[in-house]
Amino acid sequence: MSFIKNLFGFLSHDMAIDLGTANTLVLIKGKGIVINEPSVVAVKNNNMGKPEILAVGQEAKDMVGKTPGKINAIRPMRDGVIADFNTTEMMIKYFIKKVNGKSFLSSPRIVICVPYGLTQVERKAVRESALNAGARAVYLIEEPMAAAIGAGLPVGEPNGNLVVDIGGGTTEIGVTSLNGLVISKSIRVAGDKLDQAIINYTRKNFNLLIGDRVAENLKIEIGTAVKLDEPLSTIVKGRDQVEGILTSVEITSEHIREAIEDPLFEIADALKSVLEQTPPELAGDIVENGIVLTGGGSLIRGLDQYLSDAVKLPVYIAEEPLLAVALGTGEALSQIDILEQTNYDD
Ligand code: ADP
Ligand code: MG
Repeated sequence: MSFIKNLFGFLSHDMAIDLGTANTLVLIKGKGIVINEPSVVAVKNNNMGKPEILAVGQEAKDMVGKTPGKINAIRPMRDGVIADFNTTEMMIKYFIKKVNGKSFLSSPRIVICVPYGLTQVERKAVRESALNAGARAVYLIEEPMAAAIGAGLPVGEPNGNLVVDIGGGTTEIGVTSLNGLVISKSIRVAGDKLDQAIINYTRKNFNLLIGDRVAENLKIEIGTAVKLDEPLSTIVKGRDQVEGILTSVEITSEHIREAIEDPLFEIADALKSVLEQTPPELAGDIVENGIVLTGGGSLIRGLDQYLSDAVKLPVYIAEEPLLAVALGTGEALSQIDILEQTNYDD
């Protein structure tokens, strides 16, 4: 069987997958990004109590918080760990099959970028899900490395590069040099924690109950890490905690800044601790070249300035922060030899 798989391998397109806690992206060599969808699966238990997929990706995310009793919208990798192996496997298979079509001749090589904090058991599960979905070979790459490559940093040189990838569930910080990760740190504080902080804030200060989606939209629309010269504001609808009635409140960017202060402080703190552990030779490079931010969380207004003030170093946002990891993983696809050097599995 594997002989046949290899024989037809040349017919298939090698694939890179950024398996993010919030979004999954798939890139095909020569074609670019072909899938960019939320890492969400909507499942329903059938009569036998067995989970059945109703939707994956955007369609499933649209169901979050709006599902009737028996339907569950799950983010299986929410906190950068695999909370639910079955659902994660279903999601990986779904995306691979969606790209790969129905052709039984097609058996791609796949590079998958996973959160840095995954355990050996979790990495094995990801690898096997992809093999079961028809991959000929699967390579795993660490998120800070993919982010650094995708941000265009010269990871192959004997120079220190510091990248901070702020995703949905985790913030991953890494110092790279000579195609390897010299230091890395992953904390479970990122976009989701900011959303949660906003939910808590509006409840405490306005008695207003809002859902995850409303909080995320507030963060994106008017959220800021620093005081703005011209504050932004918007009207938020939700439920009054005391009266139980539907109501609306005006919320400003200054409220959101206050709301997300603590989680942002934790991110800055993690960055400081990585800098403290960085060997002096590499630290010198970072002082010179600065720090690069990737991931959707880096799009918070003023976050570059906020982090720069916290560590007294220049901070830049990558050109395509939401795509950097996928692009970096795609880049790794054409350098399988480097992958084999740095791959931490097997
Ligand atoms: P992951 O790699 O963990 O899947 P992403 O890098 O895709 O995560 O980033 C998703 C996070 O980025 C979400 O928490 C989302 O709310 C946040 N995000 C996306 N766009 C913006 C924006 N313009 N401003 C602030 N946060 C954003
Ligand atoms: Mg990511």
